Amino acid sequence: MPGFELFGEEEKKEVNDVLETGIYMRYGFDGPRKGIWKAKELEQALCERFNVQYAQLTSSGTTALTTAMAALGIGAGDEVIMPTFTFVASFEAVLSVGATPVLVDVDDTLTLAPAAVKAAITPRTRAVMPVHMCGSMADMDALEEICREHKLLLLEDACQSTGATHKGRALGSIGDAGTFSFDFVKTITCAEGGAVITNNKDVYTKCDAYSDHGHDHLGGADRGADGHPHLGFNFRISELHAAVGLAQIRKLDRFLAILRNNKQVLKEALAAVPQVTFRRLPDAEGDSATHLSFFLPDEEAARKATAAIKAAGLPAFYWFDNNWHYVRKWQHLKESTTLTPFAAPLAKAMEVYKTKTFPASDAVISRCISFPISLLWTEEELRDRASKLAAAVKSVL
Ligand SMILES: *Cc1c(COP(=O)(O)O)cnc(C)c1O
Repeated sequence: MPGFELFGEEEKKEVNDVLETGIYMRYGFDGPRKGIWKAKELEQALCERFNVQYAQLTSSGTTALTTAMAALGIGAGDEVIMPTFTFVASFEAVLSVGATPVLVDVDDTLTLAPAAVKAAITPRTRAVMPVHMCGSMADMDALEEICREHKLLLLEDACQSTGATHKGRALGSIGDAGTFSFDFVKTITCAEGGAVITNNKDVYTKCDAYSDHGHDHLGGADRGADGHPHLGFNFRISELHAAVGLAQIRKLDRFLAILRNNKQVLKEALAAVPQVTFRRLPDAEGDSATHLSFFLPDEEAARKATAAIKAAGLPAFYWFDNNWHYVRKWQHLKESTTLTPFAAPLAKAMEVYKTKTFPASDAVISRCISFPISLLWTEEELRDRASKLAAAVKSVL
């Protein structure tokens, strides 16, 4: 699955360029940095690779989401529609700008169910945030249509799907803004890092300042001369992290080719088990293939299959029991367990989660297993895993 599996000389070279100058900060120090601008270079590479006009690197995917929301003007009183199946960072970001996360059901795409999104729209809804989970895409045709019709912002959390596309467009580039994560386990990594991509100049300009204490970056070589058009935070990436990402993005197409090949072999083997069905992909060609996600007939079969796969020495994610990716185990969110209290209206809005249940999502996630795909398997290891995976699943049915 992740870029850390194929770390090597390329990453070392890029990091060494930065170590040589000793300038680890992405802004300023114009003289001593001797023309080395890794973060700027990576932003340029992101724009080219994903066919967007603007990219803003940040310290993480989480801060990329927060930055994007701030730049889109999402704040207190606004509702952001998001899925019950995602990483906790998605709602952390919504809460970080004081907005209200409105959790809605996922369907067999493992992402937002368009009908559930429609049903959740209120006069306070500002944005829809699909999360392109496990390497693959939400139903972007339906979600774009809903956002157009109801004049809502569309913010894509593409943190798990760098390199995936929907009908030829990069995930993350379709909405008003999109985000990537380059944390250590993502498709490409900076060790830690993230990015906002957008085609909207105003959104980009706000991201640029917001992620650096409000600096407008118009003061030339003198950071002290920069203006501060609005408040911001320090969500900067370092030159060292950006250097790693620069080496990684050059390998992205190689990663995708390996992942897609390996996934195809695994999928063919598993398709021989008649009771297994696969995640629905709105555009199968655009799949970045980081995982093979499939369904068993019921929860019991899925639990048994997960145990059998693990007993065969292979990895498997059973998200229904995972503390971090599915609403069922998000007690801290459901109970509003915060270190600092929410503003009163948000606290009130969050009360719904104390009792709300998600039977439609449960019916999907309780039957789902995701098998992570490695970049490192030899042809022989791949065939071995494919037959072991199919045999393990078959053994419980
Ligand atoms: C990883 C992830 C994030 C956050 O990224 P970090 O770089 O780890 O902060 C956000 N959303 C999703 C869906 C993720 O998987």
